[in-house]
Amino acid sequence: MNNSDQTRVQNVSLPPDKVMHKLVSLAKRRGFIFPSSEIYGGLSSCFDYGPLGSEMKKNIKELWWNSMTRRHANIVGIDASIMMNPTVWEASGHVASFNDPMIDDRTTKRRYRADHLIENHIEKLRRDGKTDHAEAVQSAYEAVAGAPDSNRALYDLITGEAIKAPDTGSGDWTEVRQFNLMFQCNMGAVADTSGIVYLRPETAQGIFVNFHNVREASRMKVPFGIAQIGKAFRNEIVKGNFIFRMVEFEQMEMQYFVKPGSQIEAFEAWREERFNWYVTELGITQEKLHWYKHDKLAHYADLAYDIKFEFPFGTEEIEGIHSRTDFDLSQHQQYSGKNMEYIDQTTNERYIPYVVETSSGCDRLFLALLSDAYNEDVVDGEPRVMLKLSPKVAPVKAAVLPLVKKGEMGEKAELFRSELSTAFMVQYDDAASIGKRYRRQDEIGTPFCFTVDHQTLEDQTVTVRYRDSATQERIDMSRAKEFLATKIV
Ligand code: ATP
Repeated sequence: MNNSDQTRVQNVSLPPDKVMHKLVSLAKRRGFIFPSSEIYGGLSSCFDYGPLGSEMKKNIKELWWNSMTRRHANIVGIDASIMMNPTVWEASGHVASFNDPMIDDRTTKRRYRADHLIENHIEKLRRDGKTDHAEAVQSAYEAVAGAPDSNRALYDLITGEAIKAPDTGSGDWTEVRQFNLMFQCNMGAVADTSGIVYLRPETAQGIFVNFHNVREASRMKVPFGIAQIGKAFRNEIVKGNFIFRMVEFEQMEMQYFVKPGSQIEAFEAWREERFNWYVTELGITQEKLHWYKHDKLAHYADLAYDIKFEFPFGTEEIEGIHSRTDFDLSQHQQYSGKNMEYIDQTTNERYIPYVVETSSGCDRLFLALLSDAYNEDVVDGEPRVMLKLSPKVAPVKAAVLPLVKKGEMGEKAELFRSELSTAFMVQYDDAASIGKRYRRQDEIGTPFCFTVDHQTLEDQTVTVRYRDSATQERIDMSRAKEFLATKIV
């Protein structure tokens, strides 16, 4: 690489509140994400992934899938049906209690999650150093949250603490009400309650109900895991922040079945592995990732942590890691009447395995990657927008740019593109000046640009330009595939 070129790039710092606006516009303009059914005015919290977005999402899913199933001999994958026998959701507890407590502001007509208002209030008290007050609110909250008659108590806590809406400062509150987040559909010709099915609100249950099928078919012995990527649906009342909270989204979940008593050790190992995955495999800035330990546990969990990411709009969850005890398998045993025990062939012990779950949201991760990568700088005095994506995640790995589009040079470049495309997603671009073409690729995060020029015709070399440093070097065309393979590992 030409070191004298190192000073060509000057960084520009950008206020976080501007980043979201710029990201949404770039995502649409360059074909990462479009609003769903846009020509009809769209649909709240639904989005479509465009040509580059679907490519990048596929990369993320493939990296996750390989990190689970290929790297672990004792983890296998499944792809379960979205619709399941409705009793599944009674057994899992979703019919009775997959509710969010909502509260409305009469003046602004805005709707909020009552639990989020209180949690944010506690965090603010802690930030302001009012620790005793924060602890008092925390314990009052823990005492009421999840209780069957919690609505009144949550309302009293919100009004008693004079909690205001974070965005408007208003606090003209209605009562708290519970909303079930599952979407209902009718299956069959008759639209009565006997045909009610649900769109799954999580992928995990498809794994639990297949525990014995997978164990037997793949001859798995505890400890082992089942991984799955798939759509989940939640009728989220509070939406917003682009693809952060959607009603239809994709989860990447893995349930790890262990012997009771060994769950904490497994939990800690997965906690470490999952955090490292974001940093080493995806190249996310480590300082923007944070652990959050749940003080208030779901009734079935004995330990739970979230991995949170510093989005431009705040630090929010991208993955949950939960020690779920034997709750799910026991519930399915009770509701289905089928034995969910595991028999250890060597010791003859029988038990219902405990489960450690890693549950990551593909769309939230996509947004985390985009916002982490968004970069504005100045190259040779010219401002540019660049997505500093890891080459593994970037939708296009390399661009082939002929200096002159016609004649021998264009033909050679096209052949070169076709050769590279057998192994990598590459783009060919012969329109506009070379500088403009570099900028187009920088903006979508393409890590390498190969330029075919006059010298190429003489000695079969091309220039390779590095996105981040904007520096160039010459390599043999015959080495280009190997070059990309070594850079994208
Ligand atoms: P939140 O508290 O933000 O609603 P959650 O705790 O309900 O999230 P989980 O049930 O643990 O989320 O789901 C696991 C992962 O699925 C989350 O970490 C997130 O990445 C993703 N996820 C959950 N709900 C949504 C949603 N509405 N839109 C996009 N991704 C989601």
